[in-house]
Amino acid sequence: MKYINKNLSIEKVKFSNIAKKFGTPTYCYSYGQLKENINTFKKSFNSFSPLICFAIKSNTNVNLIREIKKFGLGADVVSMGELMLALKAGIDPKKIVFSGVGKTSNEIRYAIDKKILLINAESKSEIREIEKISKSKKKIVNIGIRLNPNTDAKTLKQISTGKKENKFGVSEKTFIELVNYSKLSKNINLKCLSVHIGSQILDYKPYEKMLKVVDRIVKKSNYKFDFIDLGGGMGISYEKSNKKLNYQKYNIAIKKFLKSNDCKIIFEPGRSIVGNIGSLISKVIYIKESNKKNFIILDAAMNDLMRPALYGANHKTLPVVKTNQISKKVYEFVGPICESTDKFTTLKHFQKLKEKDLVVMCDVGAYGMSLSSNYNLRPKPTEISVKGSKINVIKKRQKLEELI
Ligand SMILES: *Cc1c(COP(=O)(O)O)cnc(C)c1O
Repeated sequence: MKYINKNLSIEKVKFSNIAKKFGTPTYCYSYGQLKENINTFKKSFNSFSPLICFAIKSNTNVNLIREIKKFGLGADVVSMGELMLALKAGIDPKKIVFSGVGKTSNEIRYAIDKKILLINAESKSEIREIEKISKSKKKIVNIGIRLNPNTDAKTLKQISTGKKENKFGVSEKTFIELVNYSKLSKNINLKCLSVHIGSQILDYKPYEKMLKVVDRIVKKSNYKFDFIDLGGGMGISYEKSNKKLNYQKYNIAIKKFLKSNDCKIIFEPGRSIVGNIGSLISKVIYIKESNKKNFIILDAAMNDLMRPALYGANHKTLPVVKTNQISKKVYEFVGPICESTDKFTTLKHFQKLKEKDLVVMCDVGAYGMSLSSNYNLRPKPTEISVKGSKINVIKKRQKLEELI
């Protein structure tokens, strides 16, 4: 994304043209950036060629997933819907892993029928359920067990998953018990130890710690795992000053781990693949000023982009046409929804805006559209992809008739 003659553009397309043609709010994805992200990810870890399973929950657009599939990626799914979507996008079932603490019998049955690579179980009860179903189907099912390594990911508490107080995975003690239980089972084949300590992790040190725990527990369990699934969570830079995860340092830690562990590594990245490829264009409906506070009221709201309301996330916001006239006032950028948490950001020294001007919120490719809802009975926005100067509508705006 850059300004070309004062017009903010995504690849070779001006956002103002996209808004004119498709209306607002609209999600725009850059396929050039997607390609770059995947290639960088692959290159950073190529010495041990991991299986990269894209975390579908971060972006559930089937056309985008088809594009991701072309690079040979698999999928990490957390529901039957996501599994169906991954298969619809053409992802090889042998590259699909199924995570989540609450898989229903129906979901387990479906996953077994589709012959996916791994069901990563997160409790004793789930393993018993998988065993019961595979027995009734006279099958042997490949599973992983998710370990809770009790490692602080040093990220937002809302997206931390690897500490003992979190609901995810099983403790070290239970893990060893379940390994021993699985060894004796005729219908499950334990193949994998999985972990996922959280999201938007910017420092490699929590990963390093996690690997030490995994190494110790693999040795203690005295079992040969074909796969070690390290989950996702690689953090990206959301604002200028923010750093992003150093892949090289993480790579070094993994290589060290692999010296004494012969296994295939699986990753489940979501945000690091699609986070920075997406932008949300929105139009200023009204500007409301008072002596207490000033508001820019946008036509995008928390139903379109929930991260600010849900996690207190702050997305870089840019004017679509640059004028270099800076406002002295402080503005809160809000949506039209009847909730006080329906606000995106508060900015000082932003460019002077008028009603009907356009702004873009950056880095919304992950957990943007996939977290959207119809709250206040608002239709979900259009999604378009941009490749050079080519635009494709990859999901049409919802029609009110579909909702009413
Ligand atoms: C959400 C999730 C991911 C993806 O996390 P990112 O931070 O988007 O990389 C991977 N694995 C599991 C089990 C998850 O729940």
